[in-house]
Formats: sequence, C-alpha cells, structure tokens
Amino acid sequence: AMPPKLGMTYHKTICQFCSVGCSLWAEVENGVWTGQEPAFESPINQGTHCAKGAAMREIAIGDRRLKYPMKKVAGEWTRISWDQAISELGEKLLGIREEFGPDSVYWLGSAKYSNEQSYIFRKFAAFWGTNNVDHQARICHSTTVAGVANTYGYGAMTNTFNDIRNAKSILIIGGNPAEAHPVSMLHVLAGKENGGKMIVVDPRFTRTAAHADEYVRIRPGADIGFMLGLVREIFAQGWEDKDYINARVWGMDQIRDEVQKWTLEEVERVSGIPAEQTARVARMLAENRPGTLIWCMGLTQSTVGSSKTRAASILQLVLGNIGKSGGGANIFRGHDNVQGATDMGVSCDSLPAYYGLDEGAWKHWCRVWDVDYDWMVSRFASKDLMQAEGMPLSRYMDAILEAKENLDQPNPVKAMMFWGHAANSITRGPEQREALDKVDVLCVIDPHPTQVAIMSNKQDNVYLLPASSTAEIHGTVTNSSRSLQWRDKVFDPLFEAKSDYEITYLLAEAFGFADEMFKHIEVQNKEPVAEDMLREINKGTWSIGYTGQSPERLKLHMQHQDKFDSITLKGMSEPVLGDYYCLPWPTWGNPEDKHPGTPILYDTTMPVAKGGLPFRARWGVEHDGENLLAEGSFPADSEIKDGYPEGTLGMLDALGWSDELTAKERLMIISIGADRFKHDMFNMTEDEAQIAMDQLTLAALQQQSGGSDNINESWGGADGDTLNSDQQMVAEHFSSYPANALTAIKAYLA
Ligand code: SF4
Repeated sequence: AMPPKLGMTYHKTICQFCSVGCSLWAEVENGVWTGQEPAFESPINQGTHCAKGAAMREIAIGDRRLKYPMKKVAGEWTRISWDQAISELGEKLLGIREEFGPDSVYWLGSAKYSNEQSYIFRKFAAFWGTNNVDHQARICHSTTVAGVANTYGYGAMTNTFNDIRNAKSILIIGGNPAEAHPVSMLHVLAGKENGGKMIVVDPRFTRTAAHADEYVRIRPGADIGFMLGLVREIFAQGWEDKDYINARVWGMDQIRDEVQKWTLEEVERVSGIPAEQTARVARMLAENRPGTLIWCMGLTQSTVGSSKTRAASILQLVLGNIGKSGGGANIFRGHDNVQGATDMGVSCDSLPAYYGLDEGAWKHWCRVWDVDYDWMVSRFASKDLMQAEGMPLSRYMDAILEAKENLDQPNPVKAMMFWGHAANSITRGPEQREALDKVDVLCVIDPHPTQVAIMSNKQDNVYLLPASSTAEIHGTVTNSSRSLQWRDKVFDPLFEAKSDYEITYLLAEAFGFADEMFKHIEVQNKEPVAEDMLREINKGTWSIGYTGQSPERLKLHMQHQDKFDSITLKGMSEPVLGDYYCLPWPTWGNPEDKHPGTPILYDTTMPVAKGGLPFRARWGVEHDGENLLAEGSFPADSEIKDGYPEGTLGMLDALGWSDELTAKERLMIISIGADRFKHDMFNMTEDEAQIAMDQLTLAALQQQSGGSDNINESWGGADGDTLNSDQQMVAEHFSSYPANALTAIKAYLA
C-alpha cells in the first residue's frame, strides 16, 4: 500500500478505461483528487499503468465535465435544475407509457456502470415494464458469448490474465493488446519469456505483432477459413488430443468431416496465408501445449462474428486446451465493466446472472425482489412481451425508421434514454441521427456531453443530465477475467453531477415505484447504498456464483492484495501471483464459505461422469458463399441448433451420472452447459430438484430415441445387440427408474 503522507487520504480505485482491471491508489487532499499511483500489490497490474490509466485523475476532474442539467428549448440549450429535469421526465415518460405502452421508452445502459448500478438498472427496466434495455456488449462481445457459451457453457474468458504467463503457446487473433489492453501485455510477454511461442494473426502489423515469433498476415474476414484450416491440419497429422476429445467433447466427428474442405491450399486461396505458414502454425500449436487463444473485437465485430468465435472455441477443444492452466479461450473485453454489466443482465434478452426471460426466471427474480409475480406481469404490456426478447441496441434505429416508412404502424420507440452510452460506438451515424430526430424525448445522462446530444437536430425535449464519474461512487467492477474488485469512492460528485445510483432512485420515485424497488436496499439522501445493492445481487446470482462475494470480503481483499501473494493451484505450473485472490467468479456458496474463486473455468481433471464439465463442438451447414467476405463462414446460432440435437444434456446422460452428485448438483451442471437458465433451480429443495432432474433426463432420452419407449431398441437397433458401452450405461440408468416416476414424467411432458 501507499506510504501515508500527512493530511492525505488514500482510496483504492480501479482504472475505468479497459477491462484489464488495474488498480491504483488515489491521493486526496481536502476532498480534491491530487495524485495517483498504480498499486504495486495488485496481482493484475503489479505497479504498472498504461498511458490511459495514468490519465484517470485528469479525466475524472477534467474541465470537459458536464456541470449542470440542461435542456434544449426551441433549439437553444438552457440551464435547468435537477428538480425540473426529473419532474419533466417523470411526467413526459409516464405520458408516453400511458399512450404507447412501456416498450415505447428505450433504456440504453452502460458497460461503465458498476455492478450495482448495472443490477439496479436492469431491475429498474423490469419495474418500468420493458425488456427494451441494452448496453455496449451488444456491439462488442455478444458474438463471443454466442460462440463460447454454446461450446463450453459460460460466455466468459476462461482463464485469468496472470495465467497467460503459463502458456506454452499464445495465439492472438483479432486483438492488439499492446495498444488496447496494454497491461495485459505484461503477462503475455512474461509468457513469452517463459518460453511460450507467440503467434499474432492480423491484417496489420501491429505493436503486438512486433513481439511475435510468428506474424501471420491475413486477409480481413478470412479468420474462419484459417482456423478451420488449422483444425484440419491438426487432424490430418493426428495431433488432436484424442483422450481429451473422447472423454469430454461432444460432436467432434462432425467437425472432422466438415473441415475437410479447408486444405492448406484452400486456406491460402481465401486468406492469402501461404500454405506452409498455416502448416507451421498448426505444428507450433500442437507442439506447445497447453496454449492460450486470445481474441478481441477483430474477431467479434463481423456479420459472422458468432461463427468466428465458435471456430476459435473448437480449435481449442481439438488441442485439448480448455480447462487447463496456460490454456483457455481468453477473450479480452472492452470497457472496464462490460463483463459485470453483462453478468447483471443489462441486455434485452436476459435478467441478472443470465436468467432468461421465461416465467421461471421472472419468478426467481420476483422472489429475490420480494414483489408479487402477478404485479410484475402487470407492469408489462402483456405476459408475452414480458417473456419476449426486447429490441437489441443495434436495431433501435431500424425500428424507428421502418415505422416511419409505414404510416399504419405507430413508431414503437418514443423516447430514447442514453445513460452512459455514446452514439459514436454505434455504426450508421446518419441513420442514427435521423432516428433520434423522430423520437419525442431524447435524454443523455453522462459525465460528459456526448455526441448523442449534439448529433440530433431535435429542437425541443432534449435533456442533458450530469452523472458522476466512476471515481465518485462506491461499488464493484468485474474485469475481463471475471475478477470482482471493490472500487472505492475517491471524491464527492463534482459540480451538480449526481451518481447514477441517485438518478435511478429519483426516476423510480418520479414513476412511483421507488419504495417497492428499494424496499430491501438502504437509501441515504436518495442514494441507494452500494453495499446493500451487492447483498441483493448475492441473493439471486447462484447461477454464476456471485453469491460468495460480500462487500466486506471484497473490501478486505482489495486492501490486502499483497497479503495473498503467490500460490500455486492444482494443475498450474506457475504460481498465479495472487490472482486467485481477486475472486474470479464463480465463487460458490455464501461469503462465509470463503470460496476462493475460480481462476480457471471447467475442471478437466474431473471425469464428466463425476461432475467434470463436457463441451460441445458443433456448427451447421456451410455458408453458401454468396458473400465473398463471409466465405468459409458458418451461420448464426439460431439457424443451426436444430441440426445438432446432441448437447450437453445428451452427453451427460450417455456417460452416466455419478452417484455422488446430488440432483441439485446435476441440475447445476446441466444448466451451465445449457443455453440459458430456464429454471429457478437454485432455490429448489432437493426433492424439487430431483423431480426436475427426472423430467430433464427423460426429455433428453426422448430426444435421442425419437420418442420410443424402448430404450434398447431406439439406441441400438431392433434387437438391441449393437449397444456400445456408453449406450449400455444409459439403458441401465433409465431402466432403474421406477415405473410410476416415468408415468408422472410422461404426463408432465405431455
Ligand atoms: Fe487502465 Fe487497461 Fe491501461 Fe490497465 S491496461 S491502466 S485497466 S487502460
């Protein structure tokens, strides 16, 4: 920790610029932030900063801050009071809600929020009655989530920044960490110094590429062809990790067939990468395992982004690199809390902790919020809309403009709330401008005046409200490698800025649901208390293990990171330099259980039948090639699901269950591997879990057997003689079910 200086106070905060999560000590004198030092005891940044982090103080206290609320009247910006702003917004938005329904207001949140703000923002949208809520993740790594979650289970970076130094090979594709995530290069270069082979694939020779052992210049858009070419070459040479694949990867035979067209020559034709270089890279990856695969927005921001991330995920399975120290799919997120905001459900298709929008998910959160489920339904225009995905951020302008073209159809979006989101991160500026001109109310809430406020030609009803910066609130942030860190407030909000917490409360008050929404969260001077919000998050997030992270625990860890220095984990060749103590989720159990966090997702030391996680390697038919840039691409998830019914569930059944697992644990494994959390399983009693488990296993069986009751017949042919050992296990497993349970389950499924 910083040595104390007389008259100063010190506050530990986290850099707000990128997702690495570097911590720093802020020096404060008489309430003014006067200096800063990177935290030497931080296992992540180890006393370093990049140029962006070094400017934290300057940006927070800079002269470009928005100083007071403003409103555009007849084309002129005028200063107004907060009271006027909140009361006018309350009246106008409620009027719009009354006339056009709750979906007519679009709530655009932010990856710069703390976890607590992200959480109450999603809750706020639910209380308002809409799923028209989203944030920056939609346009950066949502395609990563689609590829990774469907292959491994979680849509997150699998290992930690520190663990990259254990990698024997480091393949970076579509990322330039030396400039975008500079402190992460500390770990990448340490990995290289430890003997790891560094391969950088990029159309441009970047600062990152300058460090590479092998620089691969690729034609933009040809990533899938290259990665599948690597897969083909690895199979052709017999370098795949056969034991690993046999033990836990489902669907690899199909992959082997489908990559056959990606010969080295075909890869060269599509990508421009010489055949001998692709072969050389494949050999480097095979000879240097475990290896890490790092990607960023160069892979994701594409019309076929989810297929690219899926190809990358599969490449790591072929090499047996997932679930191991030094391996992993290490996806560098963008903003400082894009992982946390996604975890907290600031998105149109999920509730906090990746609960979907189905009835079970809503009931789960209603229980946590202590509100009546029917009341919650009544907040929405209909129960159907409550359970339907809202509009993604990338579509809001189309919705407005298409409605304009069709006069019979009312404009679905009447008010846009840009709350911590600048329009310059969204493409198609002219269409955005046109769309923003069409709405009745446009409101920007931000520490700085952003492009949204000035790009619109609207003459009236545009509000610009000053929010505090991240340095002016307490709360937690989750870095790209899932580590939660407590960020201390450094100074009070500047000028007339208010914290997002307070603004949320004031709007909820204006809309009449503040008491209901904050009934279990302490509110001081209209500002909900961060610690209490985190405690409520702890209550409902069993699915991703935010449950073990109390405010007290996180504060203690932040203050004493240096007390938890190097430890070596099972399966890790190098100590992890305290990263274990940044508490990466999942931290299962309650805070008092002191779960240390999970630096490496997916325990591959445990057999699947004992609860170790299985993976799914799958994709669908090839792209028809109409689009040259997309050549070698595969369709989006929605188009391919049906072609591949075998999923985690089927594989788990095929391998048999361990008797040591409780029904609840089995459900947890399934839910992690399944697409979404469709059941409020984590609040179930053991009996309820057992019933649900029975239902799921039977459903899996029916899916695989084509509905036949005769298991032996459907699995092994007419006489049942051709069952392999896995199928035999399934047959035995199911034949042990009591007849009445089967009858009950069939009745449920009918
Ligand atoms: Fe901030 Fe990222 Fe630089 Fe660290 S690497 S100082 S988190 S911008």
